[in-house]
This record gives sequence, structure tokens and C-alpha cells, in this order.
Amino acid sequence: MTSRVVLIGHPVAHSFSGGMQQAAFDALGVDARYELWDRRPLDLADAIAELRGDDFLGANITIPHKEHVVPLVDKLTEEAQAIGAVNVIARDGKKLIGHNTDVAGFKAALDKIVGRQKMPRYAVVLGAGGAARAVTYALITGGFQRVVVFNRHLHRAEGMVRHFGRSAAHMDLRAMPWHESVLEAELAKTKLLVNATSIGLVPGETPIPAELLPPDLFVMDLIYNPAQSQLLKNAAAARDTILNGEHMLLQQGARSFELWTGKVAPLDVMQAELDRAREQGLRPMPIDMGSASGQPVDPGAGPTAPRG
Ligand code: NDP
Repeated sequence: MTSRVVLIGHPVAHSFSGGMQQAAFDALGVDARYELWDRRPLDLADAIAELRGDDFLGANITIPHKEHVVPLVDKLTEEAQAIGAVNVIARDGKKLIGHNTDVAGFKAALDKIVGRQKMPRYAVVLGAGGAARAVTYALITGGFQRVVVFNRHLHRAEGMVRHFGRSAAHMDLRAMPWHESVLEAELAKTKLLVNATSIGLVPGETPIPAELLPPDLFVMDLIYNPAQSQLLKNAAAARDTILNGEHMLLQQGARSFELWTGKVAPLDVMQAELDRAREQGLRPMPIDMGSASGQPVDPGAGPTAPRG
């Protein structure tokens, strides 16, 4: 029986995960098929219930479900519990276990951008969704001393700061209102800026006006647009060091693969598929829209950039 792994999100049309994971399954002779499931928030519980079938190895969870899926699994790893967000579901017998591999993926990407230089201790994070939670947790546990979170809806950033209250007791973690003057003042003090919002999925959009970016920052955008995001283009022009979300995607994906299959992920195969997708575009994959939504969508329609 061919096993199944699914990506559950809304939308999922432009995810690179499908091609990357399928290439890894095929390379190691794992008889499994990676499927894209576009599910609205109301249909999430049904989608998770479906994963209990014997043919499923597990799932990836993406925008906007990473937090809402937490109460729907049987058990969380300590890390997923601490973060309050799940991006991978794997099975332990009949049980569905919620994991978070975004943290390890982000840490690998942070090491890559900082390289041999000294790791900064002060960061500005944009966003307060599932990805921002993983980023903030990685910074808290990675020895950062001050992390300031900006989010469109301030109350969500404040909720995240409260959530991390105990694990961040040793450092300064705070939410601030998204006003240009406040952002500018914080950016002048920081060495690391991370965009963990979805702003930039639409080409040309950027969370921060170019003139606010000081030189000599490390700027990471979790978005992995085939063309560089506008934020990263502006940051490069300001003489900042930049990194998009591709390395994080690869690293979190490798850990997901290992949780589903118990095999060491073929990183070179996965990277080659990402290179191919970046250069030639996505391989068309059928998208299951769920019973409520009717027809599968055209993979060429919808938003113009890929998801994690
Ligand atoms: P969520 O839906 O959980 O959160 C989205 C975030 O973006 C929220 O902070 C939201 O703010 C903000 N946002 C969305 N639209 C706007 C807007 N128009 N103006 C201002 N703020 C906005 O998504 P995730 O956290 O799961 O994902 C966020 C991004 O990170 C996505 O682009 C995703 O593709 C990427 N990602 C990449 C990964 C990788 O491996 N490279 C891994 C995980 C994610 P508010 O709370 O105010 O609505």
C-alpha cells in the first residue's frame, strides 16, 4: 500500500514542500505520495481526523493552521508545547504527535547567515503567527538577550510574549506597536531583523519602507520567493547581509522527512529539487480542495509566491 503524507494549509497551491518531499521519497525508495490539501480553518478538524487512517505517515501544517492544530493532536513534543505551534504531525502507533521542526530549521538558517561572525544578542521580529512563534522561541533558547516583536495586531504579539513569559524570564522579550518611528528606533539598536509575516508573498510588498533599513544588519525573510522579496532587495541595497527562507524550508523539511520515515533525509536531493523549482517553476501537483470547496484549483492561479 502506498503511504500518504499531506500538506494542510490555506492556500497550498504554491508550496515547494510537495516537490521537495516527493523527490526525497523517490530517491530513497520510500513508497509514499505527498499530497497538497487546501483546507479552510473550519475544515481543519476533519482533515486531522482523516490522518488517523492507516495509510498516513503524517502531515505538514502551514499557514494559517499551525496554532489551531495544537488541540487536535494526541500529544505534543516538549518543544511544540513550549512554542504553541505545530508544523509537522507524525504517528506513534495510533497516536498523532505534534512536532515543531521550524525551530531547528530557523536555527540552521540563522547559523548560515551569521557564519563566522559573532552571533548577535538583540533581534527584531516581525509577525506573531506560527512561524514567528518558532523564530522567537529559537532566539529565546539561543541566548538572545533582547527580542522585540512587532505585529499588525498588537494584541497577538502581546499574547505571544505572555505565552513565552516563563521561558523568557532571563531576558527582555517585549511587544511594541507597529509605528514607523518605533520601528526605526528599534532597528537602529538591533543587528538582526526577521520577517515572519506573510507580507512579501505578493511581489513588491514589503513590511518595512526601504528608508528605515540601516546598513550592516542581518536581514532574514522566511518567505522563499524564487525572486528575492522586496524587503531583501531593499536590505541588499542598504548593504545588509540577507537570507531568504529557502535554507529554513530545506532544514525543517529534512527533519519532517526523518520523523515520517525514520530515514536520514537526502539533503542533496531535496536541495536539487528546490534549485530546480526556483529556476523552472513548480511541478504541477493536484490540489485537494476538500469536499466543501468543489473543484481542484489550477496550480497556476492564486497568490504568486510559495508557502512554507
Ligand atoms: P500565520 O498565518 O500564522 O501568521 C501570519 C503573520 O503575518 C501574522 O503575524 C499576521 O499578522 C501577518 N500578516 C499577514 N498579512 C499581513 C498584512 N497584510 N499586513 C501586516 N501583517 C500581516 O502564518 P505563518 O506564521 O505560518 O507564516 C508566516 C510566513 O512565514 C509565511 O509567508 C510563510 O510562508 C513563511 N514561513 C516560511 C517557512 C520556511 O521554512 N521558510 C516556515 C514557516 C513559515 P496579524 O496577526 O496581525 O494578522
